[in-house]
Amino acid sequence: MASKAKRLSPVLVLILAILLFVVGAAAGFLGAARDNFLNPVDEAANDRFGRGGEIGGDLQIHFLELGNYYTGDCVYIKAGDTDVLIDAGSKSSSVPTISAYLNEYVTDNKLEYVIVTHAHEDHYAGFAAKNGIFDLYECEVIIDFAKTNKDPSKGMQKNYLANLEAEIAAGATHYTAQDCIEQGKTDFALADGINMKILDSYFYTHDSSTENDYSVCMLLTEGENNYLFTGDLEAKGEKKLVEMNDLPEVVLYKAGHHGSKTSSSDALLSVIKPQIVCVCCCAGSAEYTKTEANKFPTQAFIDRVAPYTDQVYVTTIFESDQDKTFKSMNGNITVCSDGSRVWVVCSASDLLLRETPWFEEKRTCPAAWR
Ligand SMILES: [Zn+2]
Repeated sequence: MASKAKRLSPVLVLILAILLFVVGAAAGFLGAARDNFLNPVDEAANDRFGRGGEIGGDLQIHFLELGNYYTGDCVYIKAGDTDVLIDAGSKSSSVPTISAYLNEYVTDNKLEYVIVTHAHEDHYAGFAAKNGIFDLYECEVIIDFAKTNKDPSKGMQKNYLANLEAEIAAGATHYTAQDCIEQGKTDFALADGINMKILDSYFYTHDSSTENDYSVCMLLTEGENNYLFTGDLEAKGEKKLVEMNDLPEVVLYKAGHHGSKTSSSDALLSVIKPQIVCVCCCAGSAEYTKTEANKFPTQAFIDRVAPYTDQVYVTTIFESDQDKTFKSMNGNITVCSDGSRVWVVCSASDLLLRETPWFEEKRTCPAAWR
């Protein structure tokens, strides 16, 4: 018997091994199928800083397309149940595009916080417009620029002030960025563990020849993740911003001044070391210049950002300067966070700036991206 048992055991082992293999393979296949069904997320989204997947997470930062050929800013932040809007450009006619987008997320018609960075049309047209943001939404707290060179009795600034006054009369609380600094009201808890901080800036109290320098600057923080918004602040203001605030390294930086050569200076970038950069502009359009390298996003901006990251996204791209037509580049860009993992979801293309045909044709690839 002993010798028979010895002879049979290798056969038994083989049968058991085959059985185990078949059962294991079936279980693995079913498991993978179930995971794909429950979690249809792009493989890259499993990285800490991934691309693709679905919009989600307790913090979402949306960079909006504005429905026209003109460069401008509109950033919508959803932090838990709190809604924040930074700017509403690029034209009065962008309002329907912006509100159609917001209404997918803002279900109670209420914006808890509105930040108006500075008095340029491409940032505040939607607040100065008839039937603009202040008419369409109940705005609880409005934080705007402390200074402007605009004449309060004329044009868009006159309309903005009238609309702002009406919103305050309707119950909104209003601070200028400098009010926040002076009154120590710089920190706003948006949701559990998510904080919005109004940063101090030299040009809240000093004159500048450019309206851009008056931009309200804000730092958003969730745990170890930081997100920086500087409006159109230019190099001189950025240097002061670094001196006046203890800026951390950031996951996300909204490219200052649409990727202009006059912003995103080394003084700022070397401190914040951004990992993701979103540019709100109509790439390559001749709206501001005919000089190719200076069209947004500029060659100088790209060269300075490249050593830190290649994760650069751009909302819109021009199609024809003559016909003033445009199309989506990345489209609406949403940076999502669940507190640790961060992923970027684009409504159009997922390509990084350096992967786009426009970049290959119109820009010189910096060494860091080769
Ligand atoms: Zn601007």
